[in-house]
Amino acid sequence: ATPTSIMAGSGRAAEFGILFKGGEHLEMTQAIDTVVLDKTGTVTRGKPELTDVIISDETADAEAYLSEGDKVSLLLRFVGAAEKNSEHPLAEAIVAGIRERGIALPDAESFEALPGYGVRAVVEGRQVLVGTRRLLERENVAIGVTASETMTRLEEAGKTAMLAAFDGLYAGTIAVADTVKDTSAAAVARLQAMGIEVVMITGDNARTAAAIAAQVGISRVLSEVLPEGKAAEVKKLQAAGRKVAMVGDGINDAPALATADVGMAVGTGTDVAMEAADVTLMRGDLASIPDAIEMSRLTMRNIR
Ligand code: ADP
Ligand code: MG
Repeated sequence: ATPTSIMAGSGRAAEFGILFKGGEHLEMTQAIDTVVLDKTGTVTRGKPELTDVIISDETADAEAYLSEGDKVSLLLRFVGAAEKNSEHPLAEAIVAGIRERGIALPDAESFEALPGYGVRAVVEGRQVLVGTRRLLERENVAIGVTASETMTRLEEAGKTAMLAAFDGLYAGTIAVADTVKDTSAAAVARLQAMGIEVVMITGDNARTAAAIAAQVGISRVLSEVLPEGKAAEVKKLQAAGRKVAMVGDGINDAPALATADVGMAVGTGTDVAMEAADVTLMRGDLASIPDAIEMSRLTMRNIR
């Protein structure tokens, strides 16, 4: 009766939009004691919006005579021209926000995506960098105290702040905000009540990550994890004896989804994530995680 119960369990799960690729994954799910959640697009909606544009008050450049409004447009014009080549959800949000402001974007002469860091482009002869603090450090672009404090303030509000530099000089900061899904906090609480430890993992900075995690009741956060580092973090948990479910939506999450004992892809995410995962959660709702574990526990209990 074992294969029959598993088929019945899989069928029942499917009715709830939880698609197990095979019976062995349904079987494994009951053993999960640790759930690792990707932040962007998994805990949050993954639809960030451009919320802040702050011009450097430190860089004396050729545009110094422009009015404040013109400087904002100028900054956004170069940032947008660089970001419109990127497929990152942050880039899409930035470009959409800039276009809404009615700013036309020139084509970049060259472009390079720097995964986990940001983008580099040449726009109208100007070297443009947009991305993390670490990116600017790596490229030897200095940022002053004001810029640093601005960034901290934005991050403490749960926003992702990105720095822009033109020709090696810090030019301004932009921020995007992504809100948590309405159902995330309740799903986390349910998992915790089931005795499961919930961990959030993200490439985003520690302050933004902590602010988002706090909103949904997660206290263990792995932040500033480079794309190739997510799978390594899953392996570390496994080496410590944990049975890990990884839940993610992005291309970045695919290696971690494949490494985990059970990889769960959010159905609203990328095809790459769904291919790498053992389970697809068709409802982009994290309640499907405790649902899946409960169904697996019930199914396995019926067998014994
Ligand atoms: P996550 O794991 O949250 O999906 P990523 O690893 O893709 O994050 O990116 C980590 C960080 O790198 C982002 O939070 C952002 O600060 C920066 N970054 C990535 N892509 C871009 C981009 N296209 N433009 C600007 N910054 C970016
Ligand atoms: Mg994601």
